[in-house]
Amino acid sequence: MRQFSVSTTRREEFLDITAEVAAILRDIERESGPAEGAVLVYSPHTTAGITINEGADPDVRRDMLAHLAKLVPCDPGFRHAEGNSDAHIKTSLMGPSQLVPVTGGRLKLGTWQKIYCCEFDGPRRRTVLVQFLPSGSGAGEGG
Ligand code: ZN
Repeated sequence: MRQFSVSTTRREEFLDITAEVAAILRDIERESGPAEGAVLVYSPHTTAGITINEGADPDVRRDMLAHLAKLVPCDPGFRHAEGNSDAHIKTSLMGPSQLVPVTGGRLKLGTWQKIYCCEFDGPRRRTVLVQFLPSGSGAGEGG
């Protein structure tokens, strides 16, 4: 299991973490050759999730955040005393993880895809866990 940290700068933000995940795959390649399998990218947080979506046009991220805010407004009827139930709900809508195929040590993302850490209660420091899952049996734990 590997991990890295990111700092978000706003309450809600989609932070591109594709380069950090690719760097971990390069570390694994240096240690044990090109990775073949998949990589699990996991957020151990209750108000930050992981998603994959378009990276070319930043308006897509902006539109997604704006629409999530409409789907899950800050309802005064929420009972959770911390006052961030909207962040918890949006995090569950995105989910805590993504599984990305890996071949030749590279992420098999589509042309327009990026991996995002979805911050819904920032700004704060977030940890992202990365578990490489090698293909085939008897290949060991891998990274
Ligand atoms: Zn809370």
